Amino acid sequence: MLAYRHAFHAGNHADVLKHLVLSEVLRHLVAKDKPFTLVDTHAGAGGYTLFEGPAQKKLEFEHGIARLWGRNDLPPAVARYAELVRQFHGAEGKAWPRLGYYPGSPQIANMLLRPDDPLHVYELHTTDHRLLEETLGSRPHTRVSKADGFAALKGELPPPSKRGVVLMDPSYEIKTDYAAALSAVREGLRRFAQAVMLVWVPQVQLRESVDLPQRLKSAAHGAPRGWLHARLTVQPPDAKGFGLMGSHMVVINPPFGLHATLAESLPYLVKRLGQYDGAHHLLEQHAV
Ligand code: SAM
Repeated sequence: MLAYRHAFHAGNHADVLKHLVLSEVLRHLVAKDKPFTLVDTHAGAGGYTLFEGPAQKKLEFEHGIARLWGRNDLPPAVARYAELVRQFHGAEGKAWPRLGYYPGSPQIANMLLRPDDPLHVYELHTTDHRLLEETLGSRPHTRVSKADGFAALKGELPPPSKRGVVLMDPSYEIKTDYAAALSAVREGLRRFAQAVMLVWVPQVQLRESVDLPQRLKSAAHGAPRGWLHARLTVQPPDAKGFGLMGSHMVVINPPFGLHATLAESLPYLVKRLGQYDGAHHLLEQHAV
């Protein structure tokens, strides 16, 4: 039985990094005429309410999207991402300029994909799966599956159009998720080396979390466009050595221009989202 609900964490610093990268990758892909498939292996509920319910418990969004909301000094890519969040309020006919809602990865995809770009999402939690079906049910070329996204990935690749993006965003609620993510990526690349794969990894003091980014980079050795690794560290571990210090995005086969975009955006995010003097970022790329 899964306990994790993304509604408690929606819009936090990790979502900011993840959704900035996701939205920039999708914008790049839609610039070309040919359709592509997006596979979201761990989709969550789709969209979230911030002004009441679970998000109010720990107010994590206050250290994330709220620090960017309404600012006029955002770097261009961060401004494009913040505009998506704003549009999510508008599309639902909800209050604006107050920050009250946050789009998860399926809603970001829904906003950026063209109607003929297939969207295949996986979510195991019964409630979140039902919410996802309600949200995406009417979208054409969309499949919402209550199934294990790690196991399902190999059946998705290669996509019919031979253009595909994978977002792998596990909750890492169970330690085996680290190994499962790595083997799903390896198997996915074996089937379709050109897949653009985005893997989110938490930055926590756990051996598995420290090792996974490097293992993903090694798994990408046969990927024609190499890999990119972005990390945003915003806080130190707590007194017991726990806590989410920040997060990584490892992008395999990154689109051209993503490095430059993040090089401009990450220093700003460190400045705005950093919660201590040691806040910093890392950005590295290996192009084949
Ligand atoms: N990607 C979402 C976003 O960016 O808005 C957030 C996803 S959340 C971090 C991870 C989700 O994966 C949770 O909703 C959890 O229920 C779901 N989950 C956990 N294990 C899964 C699995 N093996 N396959 C599919 N979904 C899973």
